Amino acid sequence: MSCIVAVVEPCQAQEESQEKEQKPKVWKWQYGQSGAWCDHCSDHNACLDEAYACGQALLQLTHGRHTYSIDMDRMEQHNTQTGKRRSIRRVTDESGTASVDLSKVAAAIASVVSRRPHYWPSGIHYSPWGTMGQVDLIDVSATMATVMQQRLHDTAHADDSAFPNSQCVLAQKKRVARVLHIQNFDFWMCYAARRAAVVQKCQGARLPEALPAIPAPQGMPLLEAANELLLWHGSGKDSLRSIIQHGFDPRISRAGLYGEGSYFTPWACKALQYVKTSLQADDSCILLLCRVLVGCPYQAQTSYKGRRPPERNDSFGSVHDSVVSVAGPKQGNRSQQFHDEVAISENTQAYPEYAVFLK
Ligand SMILES: [Zn+2]
Repeated sequence: MSCIVAVVEPCQAQEESQEKEQKPKVWKWQYGQSGAWCDHCSDHNACLDEAYACGQALLQLTHGRHTYSIDMDRMEQHNTQTGKRRSIRRVTDESGTASVDLSKVAAAIASVVSRRPHYWPSGIHYSPWGTMGQVDLIDVSATMATVMQQRLHDTAHADDSAFPNSQCVLAQKKRVARVLHIQNFDFWMCYAARRAAVVQKCQGARLPEALPAIPAPQGMPLLEAANELLLWHGSGKDSLRSIIQHGFDPRISRAGLYGEGSYFTPWACKALQYVKTSLQADDSCILLLCRVLVGCPYQAQTSYKGRRPPERNDSFGSVHDSVVSVAGPKQGNRSQQFHDEVAISENTQAYPEYAVFLK
């Protein structure tokens, strides 16, 4: 088994470059020593956290004359000179004192080579679509059905009397029949490369506070530095196979209220509207739970027409990474929006992670 090397210089004190409230949420890495937990330095912290988020299970760090092999599957570090092994752990940084050094983040991400994310489970293959080429579909129902049932319940409105023409209550009645973990390594690498670019570009851009977040299942890291979210996607059954094999293709998407592109939502009830316009209680269907790089979002206050998100008004002429419309009062003809939505126009900016079969 080969190690991936991300060499960093010896630790230096990091100056606070941003106000505390401007920082993305950070995590703190610690190692066990004499019965206590000690903090890794900020350089190592950034490397470890972003390597972890990329699903990189093995890496090496240098500190002075010492080299440490880090194994994130075992959560252990190994001093290659002395042979000493120590436990490591990842905890939220309550004090908010750790700083994120984006140049180190980029180095860690750039060092990821062909290695499957450490949290991808192995198990029994199952495909209702026949042979799927390079894609592995792993049946994780035994461990994930209850988790997904909870996510479904938590992301569907309980009362649709205030939501005309919606399928809110119908979503509450659906039961999770099967969960597949989608392992499309070729497309994952494209997604990971795009994610590294978004980290560099969005530089601490913030998500709308009102946008609900779907908690990731235990052990599945999301990269806060890219504003990576877990969101539902609903589409007709004819599109599912293509999405799983090739990702989302905004070129064949219909124009929505917030521009051309692929649409995602934190609401399962909203995603069900896209599966079938008149879904019945006894219809079986499939929702995709996806990683989405929201990056630097454009917050739409009214409907928006465009083949890509609006420009950011910076000196580089760059565009926003996504269009986000949060639920609430809207300007123009549409006075009220009931569900939050996120639209992206880049094929590699979303990764379908789970196929959730509902009945
Ligand atoms: Zn709803």
